[in-house]
Amino acid sequence: MDIVVFIKQVPDIGEVKIDPETKTLIRQGIPSVVNPFDKNAVEEALLLREKHGGKVTVVTMGPPQAAEALKECLAVGADEVIHLSDMVFGGSDTLATSRVLAATAKKIGKYDLIICGKQATDGDTAQVGPETAELLGLPQVTNIAAIEITDGIATIKREEECGYAIIKAPLPLLVSVTKIINEPRLPSIKGRMKANRAEIPVWKADDIGVTRETVGLKASPTRVVKIFNPVRKSQGQIIQGVGSQEAVELLLEKLGEQGLV
Ligand code: FAD
Repeated sequence: MDIVVFIKQVPDIGEVKIDPETKTLIRQGIPSVVNPFDKNAVEEALLLREKHGGKVTVVTMGPPQAAEALKECLAVGADEVIHLSDMVFGGSDTLATSRVLAATAKKIGKYDLIICGKQATDGDTAQVGPETAELLGLPQVTNIAAIEITDGIATIKREEECGYAIIKAPLPLLVSVTKIINEPRLPSIKGRMKANRAEIPVWKADDIGVTRETVGLKASPTRVVKIFNPVRKSQGQIIQGVGSQEAVELLLEKLGEQGLV
């Protein structure tokens, strides 16, 4: 089975900083990591390859430093990686990103399954997987917690608000994974050494047949009207060290002071 995994490199930060002028995330000077959900996506691809054979190709679109994220995937056992890096891709919103990824899948040509993370921890829209599936005309199942494949049919356990749905879908298919699907493996020292020596292939707009008219900032319909860091509210107060009756009385007193009761 041939599997393509889309991964994104994201800033390794608890607090996202925003440039108020450009309304984009400030990425400079912040260490980057593979988006946590995408590590689960790579792990699931490796598990399926171990079961069914085939090849795992990991793809990312991002600036030159995103090559490091691909090396991490090689270190845990990906067969091939592709780095989509071109000035033409700069400023792409989720739709333009999906156009680049869909064009790449078409160029790769042969795949049975595409695996994405549920969402990226920085942009956080969860749009890229579904949009890419639409552009490729593929069936898609999001938020998956388990997948089994038999005779070209995937049986999927999908995480829902009130439990799980069991869905059957034919291959080729695009899925997005949640964190509970597996526990990503750690790279071996040998794997790391091999990955560090690897040449990372870079594909540009011309290689996948996309142009400035379809990708990048000008081809991105999203308009960011306003973006800001949420104002931190006071930390609140926990009433403790008293019995429940006294705690309720104290709470009512405090709410009364605020004019809330
Ligand atoms: P989600 O949709 O939450 O990601 C879901 C899954 O899709 C991921 O888990 C992963 O599997 C896959 N995926 C997402 N992104 C990628 C990727 N890049 N490569 C491979 N797989 C991926 N970002 C920049 O880095 N540089 C810019 O210049 C830039 N300009 C922007 C301009 C505008 C107007 C807007 C609105 C956004 C811009 N962004 C830019 C942000 C960028 O559009 C998003 O980061 C990107 O489209 C992914 O969206 P997301 O982070 O919400 O991912």
